[in-house]
Amino acid sequence: MTHPIRTGSVTLVGGGPGDADLLTVAAVRALAAADVVLYDRLAPHETLAELAPGAELIDVGKRPGHHPIPQDEIERLLVAHASQGAAVVRLKGGDPFVFGRGGEEVEACRRAGVPVSVIPGVTSAVAVPAAAGIPVTHRRASRMFTVVSGHAPLSPAELEHLAGLGGTIVILMGITNLPSITAGLARFGMAPDMPVAVIEQGYSARQRTTFGELRTILTESVQAGVGSPAVVVIGEVVGLARGGNVDATAALADAAAVAGG
Ligand code: SAH
Repeated sequence: MTHPIRTGSVTLVGGGPGDADLLTVAAVRALAAADVVLYDRLAPHETLAELAPGAELIDVGKRPGHHPIPQDEIERLLVAHASQGAAVVRLKGGDPFVFGRGGEEVEACRRAGVPVSVIPGVTSAVAVPAAAGIPVTHRRASRMFTVVSGHAPLSPAELEHLAGLGGTIVILMGITNLPSITAGLARFGMAPDMPVAVIEQGYSARQRTTFGELRTILTESVQAGVGSPAVVVIGEVVGLARGGNVDATAALADAAAVAGG
């Protein structure tokens, strides 16, 4: 029986929603010590050369519909570099375990006998709404939030449950299936005037929020020409940010004053 040389390791690092300021201290340390970094399109990569000065940088970024490096090849590369003794960082957008296939990468490393650890990241599911002034929970508006992948169409049962929850719904990868999701939620009884926001390219200079209601957001989105990456937020909390971040800040300051008093 042969054993791989186990001096290398793989660290899955959550890169946050795109701004290098939102990397964790642990993420910055792991990057500084890395020999090899495999990074995604949504991970902060503009300053990677400074953050990981000693590392070979490998772009494995995926665009929707294009897969320059297939998942099994990414996993093979992680294991191959670590088996040669390298400190490998797999830098992923947001948190590695939120729709990022991080779980599969951990499994691949374990199968190969490569030591693997995970550094959580700031997920876009919470941070991108915040960047638009939308709190995913609020004492007056919502005491739960559900994070949904819109990558594949939702089943009628899923839509029915979501429509009945009464909390905030956050959809990642939801632009392509936005028509069927909004139609489905309306069909299962969600109020047609439920506030909805689509936030594109959070934490970049191109960040933009499109506001609407369940019945209007599709038209608004088409008119605005929204595209990925974007986070869709459905729920009363969106109303807190309507009119822009200034209103939201004022509303939240009021809420804090009420809670504190
Ligand atoms: N693991 C990631 C999510 C990966 S799925 C996380 O925790 O954030 C990729 C989806 O995340 C995108 O399609 C988009 O819906 C969302 N996303 C990630 N970063 C984003 C950003 N900066 N702005 C808007 N949406 C973003």
